[in-house]
Parts: sequence; C-alpha cells; structure tokens
Amino acid sequence: MISKQELLELYNLNPDELLNISSKYIKNEVEFCSLVNARNGKCSQNCKYCAQSSHYRTHIDAYPLIELDEVKKAALEAKSHKASRFAIVTSGKTPDESDFDKIIQMIEEVNNVEGLKSCASIGILNDEQAKRLSECGLKRFHHNINTSESYYPQVCTTHSWHDRIKTCRLVKKYGMELCCGVILGMGESIEQRVEMALELAEIQPDSIPINILTPIPETPFENYYDKIDEENILRTLAIFKIANPNSILRFCGGRMRLSDENQRKALNTCVEGLMTGNYLTTTGKAANEDIKMVKELGKKLKINSD
Ligand code: SF4
Repeated sequence: MISKQELLELYNLNPDELLNISSKYIKNEVEFCSLVNARNGKCSQNCKYCAQSSHYRTHIDAYPLIELDEVKKAALEAKSHKASRFAIVTSGKTPDESDFDKIIQMIEEVNNVEGLKSCASIGILNDEQAKRLSECGLKRFHHNINTSESYYPQVCTTHSWHDRIKTCRLVKKYGMELCCGVILGMGESIEQRVEMALELAEIQPDSIPINILTPIPETPFENYYDKIDEENILRTLAIFKIANPNSILRFCGGRMRLSDENQRKALNTCVEGLMTGNYLTTTGKAANEDIKMVKELGKKLKINSD
C-alpha cells in the first residue's frame, strides 16, 4: 500500500500533474445512482454537519418511514433517468427494529426492477441485521467513515469512527458490496485527507462516495463554506483514486460547489460515478444534464447487465 508520506508528496504536486497520474486508474465509463430519502430527521446523533440531527434547530420536514409504493415509484423514476443503482436511505444511528421488516420489503421491491441494483444506507448495523440484509438480496450497503479517525471527535461525539468501521466490516462479512466515503470541507487538514484515503484503502470499499460539505444553517458547521476550495477538492479526489485504484469514486452531495469545468476535469481524471437528482437534504443537478455532460466527455454510461 502507498505510504502516507508518498501520498502527501503527491498531494502537493502541480494539480495537472497529479490529475494526470490519477487518470491512469480510471475506466471510460460512468455509473449513475440515485436515492430515496425514506425517513427524514429526528436523529439522536449530533453529527455537526447534518440537517437531520435533533440536536440542531434546522428547518427540515421530518417524516417517518415512507410507504412501499413511494419507494417503488422513486425506483422506477431513477431507472428512467439511467440510474443503475438505487438506495433506500433512512435517518438515525441504527435502523429501528419496527421499521426493519418494511425496509427488507423495500429492498426486495427495488431488486424486482430490472436493471436496478439495490443499495441501503440505514445506519449502524448489528450482526443479525447485516445477515438479514444479505439474505434478502441487498447488493450494496452504504456507510461512510465521513472523516479520518483522528478528526472524527470534532465532527460527532455520540458515536465513534470505530462504530462505523465495525458496520463496514459486517457488510463485507456477509458478502455485500460496500459503499463507504467521506465528506470533505469539514475543517480537516490535508494530512487528515491523506489519512482518510489510506483508511479507505484498508477497508477496500467497492465505491467511495465523495461529498463536499454544503453548510446547513443552524448546524455547528453552518459557516464552513471556505474550508476547502476547488483545487484542493480535485487534489483530494486524485489522491483518493491513487490510494484506491480498484474503488469507484462517486460524486455525491456538494458536487455543485465545483464549477462545471472542474466537474468535467474530475470525471476525466478520477471520478467514475455520479449520484444524480437530489441528495438527502440538498439539491443536485437534473439527471438529463448529467447524461449530457457524460456524453459530451465521450464516456459510456455503465448499465447493469445482470
Ligand atoms: S449523519 Fe446520520 S447519524 Fe448523523 S445526525 Fe445525520 S442522520 Fe443522524
């Protein structure tokens, strides 16, 4: 595995030189995914970036678990926008036992849509829950490390970075694919960005979602607009790809903080996945604009064949 020192040296190269190195690791195709926010808000945790935490007076529309029909409708819509993966996402530290059976049904419903693979992002799992998700046919589980182990206490104190890693390991234990990424721009140092790249390399996710903080009013990070600039976002993406050559980097929330030119540059050099449509509590780009961008770059849309 590449060392921390080597990655730090790469990070400080001229950006074009660095992106040229990372471009050697990508394929000429882009995978689209989409999500449904199946339960919103009222979370007991205090993640300082999150609109859904009940610790902060954010202005969101909290709601309990939605109905099966709504998930099915959203999955079909995602498919019509060329998504090949569709995620059921719920707020909260762990999935409520009372919701779990319904979430299993939702996953089965997504698996019934031809050409769409199911993902779920429902919090910290125990062994039994991971087993049940695998048995019901869940393809991929999403659970971010969010930031480096060393910076985690500055971001959240109601659960630990290790709690998150334990869930990632359970996902692998039960043979599901792992989608595990970060949120950049939360005040982490360059060294901590390098640490994240290496921590991810250790757990080897199939997909690494990259979020860039969109500061939410009334959260502790509401004024963190300038904690990372576009050049440093690109540098970070490049070192993530170099440290994780077999994982797909996926642009998720906050992508719109990059100019169109830099989004295209990232797709040409280190990013191979896009979350299309809206994110959990922030707005994304229309799917047809993403399709147009990918085609203009001469890239193929990755379609599921199984
Ligand atoms: S990120 Fe997840 S665990 Fe943290 S406050 Fe938001 S919904 Fe809760």
